[in-house]
Amino acid sequence: MDNKKAVVVFSGGQDSTTCLFWAKKQFDEVTAVTFHYNQRHAQEIEAAKNIANEAGIPHYVLDMSLLNQMAPNALTRSNMEIEQKEGELPNTFVPGRNLVFLTFAAILAKQLGAKHIVTGVCETDFSGYPDCRDVFVKSCNVTINLAMEEDFVIHTPLMWINKAETWKFADELGVFDIIREKTLTCYNGIIGDGCGECPACLLRKRGLEQYLAEKGANT
Ligand SMILES: [Zn+2]
Repeated sequence: MDNKKAVVVFSGGQDSTTCLFWAKKQFDEVTAVTFHYNQRHAQEIEAAKNIANEAGIPHYVLDMSLLNQMAPNALTRSNMEIEQKEGELPNTFVPGRNLVFLTFAAILAKQLGAKHIVTGVCETDFSGYPDCRDVFVKSCNVTINLAMEEDFVIHTPLMWINKAETWKFADELGVFDIIREKTLTCYNGIIGDGCGECPACLLRKRGLEQYLAEKGANT
């Protein structure tokens, strides 16, 4: 296993793109992997391809459409409205998704001889997704290492920071404009600042405004 090689779980959204550029600074060789599971928008895959291409990072797109086959929900089916009932997980939740993604990222890392796996999951703004929790990632790391007799290290640089801090992090990495203009977070498939109205846009916008206000106050 090469201690300087990393595989980044990369969706083309704000969080994973920030992680991609963090990894690029941190490791000598970075590979991005995007899982295609009939997301609401093929634009997500396009955004991911463009970012990886411009950053000169090798990029794998793996077909995970079986997730859509087994667990139809608002993220995988474009004819379902996104909603969240009080006290329940939003219907964008895909059960077991990060378990599947981290497992396949590790299989790819094993092939590439990479020791490090990077994921943008975050417990701070996590809408209650159980597989975004730190305890899950740590447990998954142990399981994968046991399953493959390896010593992978799963990194979660965003685990304990909020959206405003994620913007700050991108700015410190020198990629604020790339993240703002090229990433796709919006559930309506609009790149950059997005539609401004869906839950993903609202979360992103609130963080951005908070960060810009703090930055303005400090200069
Ligand atoms: Zn939106």
